[in-house]
Amino acid sequence: MNVEQINKWINKVPILEKLMAYNPVFWMNPNYTYSHNALKKLSFSISDMIDAESRLMRFQPFLEKAFDLDGIIESPLIELEEYHKESKVFLKGDHALPISGSIKARGGIYEILRYTEQILFKYDLLHINDDYSILSNESYQRFLNKFEIVVSSTGNLGLSIGIISAKLGFKVYVHMSHDAMQWKKDMLRSLGVHVIEHTSDYSQAVIEGRKASDSKENSYFVDDENSINLFMGYAVAGLRLRNQLKDKGLNVSKESPLFVYIPCGVGGGPGGICYGLKEVFGDLVHVIFVEPTHAPCMLLGMATETHDEFSVQDFNLDNITIADGLAVGRASKFVGKTIEELLFGIATVEDDELLIYLKRLVDQYELYLEPSALAGFKGLDVLLKQDVDLYGNHVITTTQIKNGTHIVWSTGGNMVPKGVMEKYYENANK
Ligand SMILES: *Cc1c(COP(=O)(O)O)cnc(C)c1O
Repeated sequence: MNVEQINKWINKVPILEKLMAYNPVFWMNPNYTYSHNALKKLSFSISDMIDAESRLMRFQPFLEKAFDLDGIIESPLIELEEYHKESKVFLKGDHALPISGSIKARGGIYEILRYTEQILFKYDLLHINDDYSILSNESYQRFLNKFEIVVSSTGNLGLSIGIISAKLGFKVYVHMSHDAMQWKKDMLRSLGVHVIEHTSDYSQAVIEGRKASDSKENSYFVDDENSINLFMGYAVAGLRLRNQLKDKGLNVSKESPLFVYIPCGVGGGPGGICYGLKEVFGDLVHVIFVEPTHAPCMLLGMATETHDEFSVQDFNLDNITIADGLAVGRASKFVGKTIEELLFGIATVEDDELLIYLKRLVDQYELYLEPSALAGFKGLDVLLKQDVDLYGNHVITTTQIKNGTHIVWSTGGNMVPKGVMEKYYENANK
C-alpha cells in the first residue's frame, strides 16, 4: 500500500501506528457483545459441536488401537501454582496432546476422521454402528490409498494431518511454508508423507497447495482458512473444558469468570476454541488472542474489519518471528467474521518475551513448550496489570479479573526434539 492509503487507515484505526512500529499492543474489540446475541447470528450451533464429539467417540477404538492410546485425544488442565500472587492460573496443556503434540491434534485429526467416514460410508465399507477399530485392517489402508490429502502448513498442521492420514493409508502431500522447522519435515518424510517445501510464507503455500489439489481427482484439500470441520474439531475443547473444571471443583460465575488466552496464527485453532467456549460458558468466559508483533494478522483484519483483504506485509510488517506456528501474514476471513462479536481482545507479544516465558516455564514448572505456545502468557500479563475496570458492551472489573480463573492455552511442544528445545533455552538465557 502507498503512504497515503496507509495514513488513511491510521486515521481511521489509530492502533495501526503502534502495530506498524512493532510495539506490543492490547486491542479491545469494540464489537464484543453478549454471547446470546452473537451466537444466534451464526450458521452453526452447539449441536454441531456435539456431533463432532460423537464422531470422535466413534473413532476412539481405532485411535486406541492405531496409536496405542489409553484415553481420548485431550490435554490436561494444569494449575500453575505461585504464577501470580493473587489470581488462580492454569495451563491448558495442548503441548501434551496425544498423537501430534500440538493444538492441531484437535482440528486436524478431526477433519481427516470426518473425511474418512464420508468416503467409507459412500462406498458402503463402514457403518455408523461398526466397531471402528476395523479401520486398522490392511484392506482399509489399501482402499484409502487411492485417495489423496493435501494441506498447507507452517509445520504443526502438516504434522498432525500427515500422521493421522498416513496411519489411515491415505497418500499425503504437505506444502510447507519457509517457516517450517527441519525436524517437522524430517519426521513427516520418515512416515512416507510427501513434503513440498516453499520459499514463500504461509498464505502463498496455501495458494500452491490448493492449486495442486484442485488439479487432481480424488484429492482433498484441508482448507485451514475456511474449513468448518477443522473449526468444529477445535470447538469440542469447550465441552471438554467444562468437564475438567467440574472435576477440579472450579466454579465459573459472574464473580469469578473464566479468562482464556490463546496464541493465534491464521485463526482456525483459537477461533474454534473461542467459539466452543462461548457456546458452553456464554458471558462467563472472556477470550483473548495473542499474536507476534511481527505477524498480527488477526488484529489487523478485525480492527480494520477487512479480515483477509490486507496482509501484515501490506502494512510494512515482515511476518518474521521465532513463533513459527504463528507466522501468518493474512488472517482467515471465515474465522474473523465468526468471532467478530465473541472475542474480547487481542494482545501482541515480542519474540524476546516468548523466550522469557519459555525459560520461566522450564525453570519453575519443568514444562517444555515451543515459542508459539507461550504467547498466551502475554495476554495474562496484560490483563493482570489492569488497574481500572474495562468498559465495552461488557464491563469487566478489576475484581472480576482478580477473582477469575485464568487459563493460558499452551499450543505445542511435546514433539520438539531435545536438541532444538535446548537451543531455545540457551537463547532465552542470553
Ligand atoms: C497453529 C498453531 C497455533 C495457532 O493456530 P491457528 O489456527 O494457526 O491460528 C498456535 N500455536 C501453535 C504451536 C500452532 O502450531
